[in-house]
Amino acid sequence: MFSKDIRVVLVGVEGSINLGFVARLCKNFGINRLYLVNPSASINEEALRFAVKGSDVLQNAVIIDSLDKIISDVDVMACTSSVIPLDKDPIRQALELKEFVEKIENYKSVAIVFGRESTGLTREELEKCHMYVHINAFKEYPVLNLSHAVAIVLYELFNKYGVERSIDLVEKPDKKDFEVMERILLKAVSKTFPRERVNEVYTSLRRIIYKSQPTLTELRLLTRTLSKLVNRLETLSKKCEERSGEALD
Ligand code: SAH
Repeated sequence: MFSKDIRVVLVGVEGSINLGFVARLCKNFGINRLYLVNPSASINEEALRFAVKGSDVLQNAVIIDSLDKIISDVDVMACTSSVIPLDKDPIRQALELKEFVEKIENYKSVAIVFGRESTGLTREELEKCHMYVHINAFKEYPVLNLSHAVAIVLYELFNKYGVERSIDLVEKPDKKDFEVMERILLKAVSKTFPRERVNEVYTSLRRIIYKSQPTLTELRLLTRTLSKLVNRLETLSKKCEERSGEALD
């Protein structure tokens, strides 16, 4: 899901496998509605098979006959193309995908238009769009497969505007978790180094831990390991003290 209304529009899609893959991608990134402008491919068994859990997106795809229906409904309509022309073609002045993602920050609804596998988008279709977006690639062959282009675009958009993200299921430590670790780290360092070195070693190790941005599980494992080591050291030194006491008796 997105914090914006993001619409995927395929113009004249030709392959049912690509169509299925794109429906699956929509599902992967929480987009429920897919727009198909004059598709050549049909929503057949093959497309549904490749859509996997996105088959409902495919079955509910909205088929229209012109990009005009999209542009009247969104704040921004952007076209995508692999073509960076050698001449100074004014309608093909590209915005790289990452820049595009930043530039749509203030718009609520954005349609991203993808072209036919064989010929891309026509000049007339390109002219209708507010922005011309290119995915940076090796200049000798920057033409991506349609569904791969959709994947990259949705991934970049999701990184900036995605909500209910799978990665947020990884638990992050809070201030308290770090405080517990710091107490035990200081103890461990104090038991390992001479007093005059404790502060610098502790500062350095603490910085390494903060830089590594551990997950909650990782930080707790570290804290528990240090804590067990400190306990063992304390038990050992107690035993040593008892033994040396016994020897003196
Ligand atoms: N010969 C066509 C190939 C189209 S590939 C052409 O170059 O236009 C099918 C679609 O995938 C394109 O219309 C575009 O929407 C998308 N695409 C492929 N490579 C891309 C790239 N590097 N940047 C942006 N979109 C790309």
